[in-house]
Amino acid sequence: MDIQKITGLLEDIVGEKRVTDKDFDIVAYSRDLSPAKQKMATHIVMPESSEEIQQILKIANEHDVPIYLRGGGTSHWDAFLAQEPGIMLDLALMNEIIEIDERDLTVTVQPNCTWAKLDAALQEIGLTYLCSEAGGPAMTIGGSVMKAGGGPRGTAKFGFHGHRDIVTLEMVLPNGDIVHTGSAAWPSAGKFKRQCLGPDLAGMFIGAEGILGVCTELTLRIRPSSDYEERIMAVMPTLDEVIELGHFVNRLVGDEYLQGFYLWVEPTAPETFVVMADIFAYEKKIMDLRKKKLIAKIEDLGGEIGDPAPANDYFDRILTGLTDIFAAGVWHFFGSGSCRIDDIGFLYNIWKQELIEKRGYTKAGFGGQVLPRDWLAFMVTNYQEPEEWDELVEMADDINEMVLEGPVVPYGIGGRDGLRPFVAERDTGYYRLLKTLKKTLDPNNILQRGIFISEEELQ
Ligand SMILES: Cc1cc2nc3c(=O)[nH]c(=O)nc-3n(C[C@H](O)[C@H](O)[C@H](O)COP(=O)(O)OP(=O)(O)OC[C@H]3O[C@@H](n4cnc5c(N)ncnc54)[C@H](O)[C@@H]3O)c2cc1C
Repeated sequence: MDIQKITGLLEDIVGEKRVTDKDFDIVAYSRDLSPAKQKMATHIVMPESSEEIQQILKIANEHDVPIYLRGGGTSHWDAFLAQEPGIMLDLALMNEIIEIDERDLTVTVQPNCTWAKLDAALQEIGLTYLCSEAGGPAMTIGGSVMKAGGGPRGTAKFGFHGHRDIVTLEMVLPNGDIVHTGSAAWPSAGKFKRQCLGPDLAGMFIGAEGILGVCTELTLRIRPSSDYEERIMAVMPTLDEVIELGHFVNRLVGDEYLQGFYLWVEPTAPETFVVMADIFAYEKKIMDLRKKKLIAKIEDLGGEIGDPAPANDYFDRILTGLTDIFAAGVWHFFGSGSCRIDDIGFLYNIWKQELIEKRGYTKAGFGGQVLPRDWLAFMVTNYQEPEEWDELVEMADDINEMVLEGPVVPYGIGGRDGLRPFVAERDTGYYRLLKTLKKTLDPNNILQRGIFISEEELQ
């Protein structure tokens, strides 16, 4: 690649101040939070509009230069790093709240509006979003939706991003075409309905980690903030009772009223099952009834209700709590994925037997959150780099292999240092369809080359 020539072409689009090809600027974009190997892009560009992205994609296609997309950069499975020399789009300048529609209960934002910024704006007018993650102040709405994240807040009721919250999307396709999904595709209508005009095309982009298009605008459902919110913390006797509580939450009365349900097991106390619940209601008497029912079920199962302070701390700080999470070292998340409520024991047993008992690794905890009808479960550790780095990667790869052999769907795919190699091994019809879509929409494999699907697999 003629780096300077590409720099000149990019400068023609966005001006000199929003492009760099200098290593000392690029190095800051060369890692994520995981132990993924350092990967240097050739250029960083900060676009301000869909039209600029459209023009950048045109150049990228003409000169066969891959494009990588960075939202808030809080994903941790090699999902935005330049797998090959190429241009990284830092979308930080596309961060506006475009419109809050208080009557239709929707909000339209640019992709790099952070959840923290949206939260603050909605709180002022007594509204809130449907679901969010624990990724801290930098995580963006575009990044979250494009990888279909979720939890701990809202997910017990509303699911992951894309399940209930997305109304319409604006996407720039790899060929530069700017398209809208849902009712936004009908120019005289508006942004109020996700599925119309045939298939749910928004669903095709949600969770695709940017390989099928660049998201440049999102319209989401919002709701009135709940007037009452209370947290419960309890210790359950065994995992069997946690599973029963999971079913209670999801089946009997659960996603009617519970926004969050979280399980945590410390590596130093692998038989102590702590659960935390986040209940909400719009009326006090309903709040009291919901709390009473949940407490009665916990006690019926032999659980002990404890001080709710840790649950309050956890649920209150999901948009701001990063500093504490990293206090013990760099954070790494592995052996994770979605499974049926009854299957969480499979993951727990791998954690307990393989990590703690066999390997004597006592730094990784085990956790999970209940979503409507399933768990997102995970193992998480803190490590001191670089001493523990290689050992951790090898161990995490072994554990991932075991977990994904079982009844678990992987969480976050990413590039060669993420879960991509594990997905590629399983030549499923779903993966073949994804590859066909990729080849059709992106014949030059420009967008996120090497993320989710390797280049060889597209030959
Ligand atoms: C401490 C901590 C806790 C976390 N907890 C959770 C959790 O509870 N649940 C959960 O799901 N995740 C969690 N995460 C992971 C991460 O924070 C979330 O997935 C987050 O939503 C990613 O948002 P981001 O803006 O940082 O995206 P990025 O990391 O920048 O990007 C995520 C993916 O989307 C792509 N992308 C970004 N922007 C666009 C765009 N505009 N168009 C197309 N593709 C794009 C990127 O290339 C990448 O593949 C956590 C992370 C941390 C650090």
